[in-house]
Amino acid sequence: MASFCSRCGTALTQKVPDGDDRTRGVCDGCGFIHYDNPRVVVGALATDAQGRVLLCKRAIAPRVGYWTLPAGFLELNETAAEGAARETMEEAGATIVDMRPLTTFDIPRIGQIYMMFRARLAGPEMAAGTESLEVGLYEWADIPWDDLAFAAVRFTLERFAIDREAGVERLHSGTIQIATERDKRASGWPRSILVDEVVVG
Ligand SMILES: [Zn+2]
Repeated sequence: MASFCSRCGTALTQKVPDGDDRTRGVCDGCGFIHYDNPRVVVGALATDAQGRVLLCKRAIAPRVGYWTLPAGFLELNETAAEGAARETMEEAGATIVDMRPLTTFDIPRIGQIYMMFRARLAGPEMAAGTESLEVGLYEWADIPWDDLAFAAVRFTLERFAIDREAGVERLHSGTIQIATERDKRASGWPRSILVDEVVVG
């Protein structure tokens, strides 16, 4: 949340603007109201002709040293699919094609929405970008499940596996929440659980 006005630099006051129903950063200098809204994370589960999955080992915080699907914040003036392809190039040096929606996850606790695509690697080229320590293609049995960086990555991989087993391609959506003690025993992921899942297709 911003502390100073992005237009005039005056310190912001946290208050509910007239006609609004939640607290915003309001500039007492120029009157500008700063809205903090959720951000969109886009990424890809890309496979090669043998069905191996492209994974990146993170070189940057958070979760340095843990594995992720290539993903990052959507930029202005690009579509979600374009953003996912850009992130895959930036983090893994790989070109992807045949992109189709795979998962959309709401994470209201941290103000993010994940949009992950299934995709096919266009060729064998890959190289760790500045945000990755290493990149690699993983057989399903060799995916480092205990060292995945984010719940959204795990849930995306799991949904992909379910579809592949069934021979279908569907869109899975849901909300990621902090797991309760009972959830933790059931989910297999240490901190989070997927609720309100809807499967389309
Ligand atoms: Zn201002």
